[in-house]
Amino acid sequence: MRDIAYIALGSNLGDRAGYLAFALARLAALPGSRLLDASSVEETAPMGNIPNGGGPYLNQMVALETTLAPHALLEALHAIEHDAKRERTIRWGPRTLDLDIVMFDAQTVSDPELTVPHPGLGQREFWDRELAELKAKGR
Ligand code: ATP
Ligand code: CA
Ligand code: CA
Repeated sequence: MRDIAYIALGSNLGDRAGYLAFALARLAALPGSRLLDASSVEETAPMGNIPNGGGPYLNQMVALETTLAPHALLEALHAIEHDAKRERTIRWGPRTLDLDIVMFDAQTVSDPELTVPHPGLGQREFWDRELAELKAKGR
């Protein structure tokens, strides 16, 4: 079954626009997947209000049609983050690339590795705006 996954991209370290472009290209090349659309890029303050959280983020959301199951998609996202030289330090700390599954059409998942829809949905205004933009384009 083909589903549409909504994936949030974020970067607040290094060449932020370059990392978003890198992510778009890699997502478009995933097996069994087609990149349908991307939202505009929005800059936001880092979340969590923690010291050393780093500078502002560039955020973007994409609609990806895919035959990948949710956990397979999550694994692919981790590989892309890894290839973007993301280093895991503190939660919500600065990172070159963060890829979150915001929604996955017709699917809900709740286990230790993956929660879909993402619990941040409805609490991050920029996600709501980006989703609305994609839906308005028919995605
Ligand atoms: P937040 O999820 O609140 O935006 P974060 O993106 O900074 O925080 P990470 O450190 O990137 O958190 O991710 C920690 C773990 O969250 C991941 O390894 C993954 O297993 C898990 N996770 C659970 N649900 C999701 C989801 N919907 N999308 C991406 N990762 C998820
Ligand atoms: Ca995140
Ligand atoms: Ca994440």
